[in-house]
Amino acid sequence: MSVYLYLFHGRDSIDQDMDGWGCEGPTIGPLSYVHTTYGGEVKLRGARDVMERFFPNTEIHFHDGFGEHAIQLAADCLPHDGKFYGDWSVCTAAALRPRGFQRVKPVCDACGSDNVTRDAVAVWDQDTQAWTLLSTYDCTTCQECERESDDLIDWKSLDGTVASDPAHIAPTADLPIVAPHAACPGDMPCRA
Ligand SMILES: [Zn+2]
Repeated sequence: MSVYLYLFHGRDSIDQDMDGWGCEGPTIGPLSYVHTTYGGEVKLRGARDVMERFFPNTEIHFHDGFGEHAIQLAADCLPHDGKFYGDWSVCTAAALRPRGFQRVKPVCDACGSDNVTRDAVAVWDQDTQAWTLLSTYDCTTCQECERESDDLIDWKSLDGTVASDPAHIAPTADLPIVAPHAACPGDMPCRA
């Protein structure tokens, strides 16, 4: 099972006064783990394509397709891509689905079968002691009519109606969020 690191409650500088929830950050993942040490750094481990996408200008050493990156917290915020986030959640993909999320499936655009497969690469993960999916290719095979192409998929909802390609739908977090400033005692100046 993979996890995602969802960043929110963002601001442009550590000492910026906040009167709202600021900006929402990226949802980083899928990741093998998120590890926090002494409230000082948050270490992430993920596949190369994920780590390079979210940390493009960072020197990360990859071993067997996976790399680790430790983010040093700045005061009590998590910095990422020029912003500082006061809140972050570690959650599963299921927790990222918005309410009413429509589950979909790929089907063959000729025969309509959902028995379609994709070529992929798996690597042995020494930490979890299991083969882990590293990447999938566009090359898709319909096991029913035995066609093979980079472009033979239609997306349908589970009850068979036409649906959107899930890759084109940005994940939206559906996490419990407390009201802004709920944690601030009295009229203490609140920068959080
Ligand atoms: Zn087919």
